[in-house]
Order: sequence, then C-alpha cells, then structure tokens
Amino acid sequence: MLKIYNTMTRQKEVFKPIEEGRVRIYTCGQTVYDDVHIGNARTYSSWDVVVRYLRYKGYDVFHVQNFTDVGHLTDDADQGEDKIEKRAREENINPWELVDKQIQEYWQVIDNLNIQRPNISPRATAVIPDMIEIIKILLEKGYAYEVEGNVYYDTFKFKDYGKLAKLKLDEEKAQARVVQDPLKRNYYDFALWLNARKGDQIHIMRWNSPWGEGYPGWHLECSVMGMKYLGETLDIHGGGIDHIPTHHPNEIAQSEAATGKKFVNWWMHAEFITLNGQKMSKSLGNYVTARELIDEHGGLVVRMGLVSGHYRSAVDWNPKVIENAKSNIEKIRNCLNNIEHSSGGNSETLKSAIKEVRSSFEEAMDDDFNTPRAFAAIYEFIKQVNSSLDNKKEILNKARDTLIELLGVLGLDFTKKKGFDDKKINELMEIIINIREQSRKEKNYELSDKIRKKLREVGIQIEDGAEGPRWKITT
Ligand code: AMP
Ligand code: ZN
Repeated sequence: MLKIYNTMTRQKEVFKPIEEGRVRIYTCGQTVYDDVHIGNARTYSSWDVVVRYLRYKGYDVFHVQNFTDVGHLTDDADQGEDKIEKRAREENINPWELVDKQIQEYWQVIDNLNIQRPNISPRATAVIPDMIEIIKILLEKGYAYEVEGNVYYDTFKFKDYGKLAKLKLDEEKAQARVVQDPLKRNYYDFALWLNARKGDQIHIMRWNSPWGEGYPGWHLECSVMGMKYLGETLDIHGGGIDHIPTHHPNEIAQSEAATGKKFVNWWMHAEFITLNGQKMSKSLGNYVTARELIDEHGGLVVRMGLVSGHYRSAVDWNPKVIENAKSNIEKIRNCLNNIEHSSGGNSETLKSAIKEVRSSFEEAMDDDFNTPRAFAAIYEFIKQVNSSLDNKKEILNKARDTLIELLGVLGLDFTKKKGFDDKKINELMEIIINIREQSRKEKNYELSDKIRKKLREVGIQIEDGAEGPRWKITT
C-alpha cells in the first residue's frame, strides 16, 4: 500500500487517486530566465521518481508541469520586477527570445538526467485567456478587487486562507514577503493581474484585458493550468518547500474560490539542496548549474547523486555526493559485468533473493518514496549476486533484468553499455576526432567547438591530453 506524505495534514496517508488506476499530477516548473541549477534538478528528479514509481505500480499517470515565462517577480510581495524581463534587459535581448533559449537548454538538461518529460509542459503565456476568465469569476464572486489596472486577490474573503497558518514552516520563510504594496487591502493579498505600466516603464510581455493592458501574477498560472489539463481536483501537486508559505496557499485560494471544490488531495514538497553548507539560489548567485555537473561527470552520475537521498531530506551538494555516486555506479556496473562474464552453474540460491529485492524495494518506495532504503535493498542484492555467480545462467539473467528494472524506476539507465569496446563507435569517433583536429589546425574553431558541443549533447566527452585527444562516454 503506497503511503504519501501530505504537507496539508503533515502525515503519511494511504494514497487513493480520484479515479481508480489514474493519477493526475501537477508539478511547479521552471521560471525560464536562467539555467537549471542543481537544486531545481533535484526537485524535478524527485517528481520523476514519483511518476516512474506510480507507473511501475500500474497507474496511468498524467503529468503536467508548467514553464513560467511571465509574471514571476523578483519579490514575492508583488513589488519587484518580472524576472524574465529583467534578465532579458540585462542581456539586451527580447524576453521571448530569452524564454525560447532557456526552454531549449532546460530540455537538454532534463533529457541528460533521464527525467521523463511531462505529458504536457504548457507555458504560462499560452493560457492568458483562461487566466482572464478565472479572474473575472473571482471578481464576480467578490474574492478579488481592482486597483489602477491591477487585480488583487482578497485573502480576507477566503475563509480557508487560514489553512496557511499551519503550513508556515518558520518565520524566516513567512517573512519572504514583508514588503507591502500600498495598493493592497490586506497583508497577504496577492496580484492576479498587473498593470503593464509602472511609472514610465512598460512591460514588454503584455495582453489586453478588461482591466487594461497587463500581465498575469505568477500564482495564477498553476491554478489555471492544473485545472485546465487535469480537472478541478488534482490527485497530487508538487513543488519545492519554498512554495509552502506563499505560492501554494495562493493556488489553493484562487482555485477553491473559483470552483468551490477542493483543489488538491496530496500536497508534496521537495526539500532544498544547499551548496557546501549554504543556501543555494539563483537570486543569491550561489549555485551550480546542472549543465556544468553533467558536462564534468555525465548525466548518470549526477542523477545518482540527486536521487540517493530522500526527497524530504535536505541535501548538501559537496564533492562527497559525486564521489559516492561514482562508486555506487561502479559497484552496479561491476555486478552487471560479473553476470555477463559468468558462464553460470547449477545453483538456484538467487531465486528467493530476486523476489526479496523486489519486495524490499517496493516496501521502501511505498513508504513515501524512500529512495535511500530502496538503494540499500539494491546494494544488498548486489552483494548476494556477486557471491552467487554459480547460479544457473537463466537465474543470473533474471537477476540482471531485475536490477536494471528497479534502477530504471529511479531513473538510472543501465541498459546503455559504456561503449569503449564497440568497434563501430570507435571507428566513427576516430573519423570525427580527425575532422575536429583538422578544423583546429585550420583555425576553424567554430566547427571544432560545434563538434565538441554536439558530442557532449549525446554524452561523449573529448579531452585534449598531452598524447592527443581522447574521448569517453559520460552518460
Ligand atoms: P524556480 O525556477 O525558482 O521557480 O524553481 C523551480 C523549481 O525548483 C521549484 O519547484 C522550486 O521549488 C525548486 N527549487 C528552487 N531552488 C531549489 C533548491 N535550492 N533546492 C531544491 N529545489 C529548488
Ligand atoms: Zn506553481
């Protein structure tokens, strides 16, 4: 029986979807103004494990994750600037161009980390008419008010906004929006729609609305997309813990006031990653991008580092995480090699171990997706396999398939071989490396960089050593 921790009740509860056999899940996605950092990647990997495990259990999962491409302000109290417009101005490009560029970069990282793409990844800017409709409903029902071309949600009108109080994690997080907007009636009120004009500045991304030209407040997109693609009540809604004090209570207030129905049955929140003991965030500039780590260590190692801890435990990203991930991957690879090279014997001792590893794995994962315990079961199994290579070949093969399958549920793909022995790849790489060397001699750095970049995208890294260039497969 799968139990999932529900932030709303602060308890693990037996999971039961609204419709038998189907799970509708929404997770808050990337604000596409900057590269995916390792904290973001950890949160997305956590949701990937959740989705994969639900699918493993036979559920038909429909996953929606948004791209925030407008309206996420630098300050939670609606006072700051739109993150995308600000960055676009700094880079001297159009905000739409920045968004496209970041979304492309985002998919590369997601694919390299073997995170299954959501069924739908809508952009906030694609649902503006739907947002306007919900705002109209909220105004009609008296949950919202208009001031100078801005529309705010009146948190005093929503009796359950109090639910938030018990959700407050600590004072520091609750203080995230101490700055008050003079146009608002109450402290917790938040923007549904913002006037495109502020002083002598005009927002580039703007739309016509009954309240004049403007753009949506950040929180509205998730309510609208969740309900548009998944229905008025979702089974699961996920996000990082930073969303507990503001973003998610606001989503609840908007959606439930509009429909009169419960918005979400299970609220899931992923803990944060710190970097060498310090809070990691894009706005503090204290972060490592997922891309840097993937380029250096390969997607598999990074993914292993990301899913080794439980999603509700904080992780400090330090060199030990990568070291451990590498040694665990080595351990798994050695075991798979041992199986491949063993000609087997007559023993059948692994039969029960194969059943046991599956049931221990499921028991761990049924307990709120406890990945550390799931790994412990896998590593125990690996020990057993390594000392039981005299089992019948078909049993060894079954052990290999089980290992690969269970690791696959955690998003770790061990079906790909390292490839060094593959004659055809070696020949092809020799040709490519020669072309690259030639282009470098001719000072055609554009081509040589392109070759290196394209190879990196498919997980092949070129290193220029003293004895000439060498290549390795990193994913
Ligand atoms: P953002 O692009 O800032 O809106 O964040 C995208 C997702 O990453 C959200 O679900 C955040 O909660 C999550 N997130 C942001 N920073 C971190 C961090 N340091 N550790 C884990 N998750 C994070
Ligand atoms: Zn959201």
